[in-house]
Amino acid sequence: MKFFEKVFDLQAFLNAKGANSTIGFVPTMGALHNGHISLLKKALAENDLVVLSIFVNPTQFNNPEDLKNYPRTIKEDVKLLQQHVDVIIFAPSVEEVYPEGFGNQPDFDFSPLDKVMEGAFRPGHFNGVGRVVKRFFEIVNPQRAYFGQKDFQRLAIIKNMAAQLNLPLEIISCPTERETDGLAMSSRNRNLTPEARKFAAAIPVVLNEAKSMQPLKTVQQVKEWATGQIEATGFLQLDYFEIADVKNLQHLQNWNPEGNNVACIAVFAGKVRLIDNIVF
Ligand code: AMP
Repeated sequence: MKFFEKVFDLQAFLNAKGANSTIGFVPTMGALHNGHISLLKKALAENDLVVLSIFVNPTQFNNPEDLKNYPRTIKEDVKLLQQHVDVIIFAPSVEEVYPEGFGNQPDFDFSPLDKVMEGAFRPGHFNGVGRVVKRFFEIVNPQRAYFGQKDFQRLAIIKNMAAQLNLPLEIISCPTERETDGLAMSSRNRNLTPEARKFAAAIPVVLNEAKSMQPLKTVQQVKEWATGQIEATGFLQLDYFEIADVKNLQHLQNWNPEGNNVACIAVFAGKVRLIDNIVF
């Protein structure tokens, strides 16, 4: 295991390995769990070198309180990664990532992908994601970068950015890892109270049942049913439950006959905002 905080040191190490080594990249915000580890394992299996970054990116938080409360567990993270002897950890400071500050970079145009769901509820979020991922791609220069389907819209945005900028790398999407009761693993789960954790288990149940209703019910009926289920908990607060086209993430009025439907949900369980999705 190697650990770097400085861009210069990481690049010197990677350069010394020679241009023939393939580099896989796993960007994370830390507070690592088995979802992150599944991405790491895939990257280790497919590349000579693997860089896993740990960086809580301020520019993708639209809510200062959320940024403050985001779990930061670098010591535990490094301990967990010790089992993966080949990993190269990159944990830079904010100044290292943004040496010239946040403000002076051009905005991305991800339209229409960023006009719905997370983009609509978290203004500026995807622009911040685009900026930080672009910066990390420039630093690490990977052949492959690994992202989870758990953040379905983010994955679509990153693929779009890579295409827009003609980046010579492959974006690899990885399935969502779940707890035994189906709750999607997330760093934010650490902040759930025991009561909120209990109610959060309803999220995957609603998604799975929504999927099973598809042949018999209309899109509108499924949306109304799902909204009702979340409201009936008397605890969870729904930001949105949407059914969208997998290809462009635009909301559907009718099912795509050839599949390619994705149901996406964002819910507050107490103070913790959770997202999840299911493709069908
Ligand atoms: P984050 O640290 O939340 O920014 O996530 C870093 C990467 O891990 C992103 O590509 C996420 O989509 C991915 N990820 C987060 N949770 C999971 C999960 N439960 N299963 C698979 N990948 C995940």
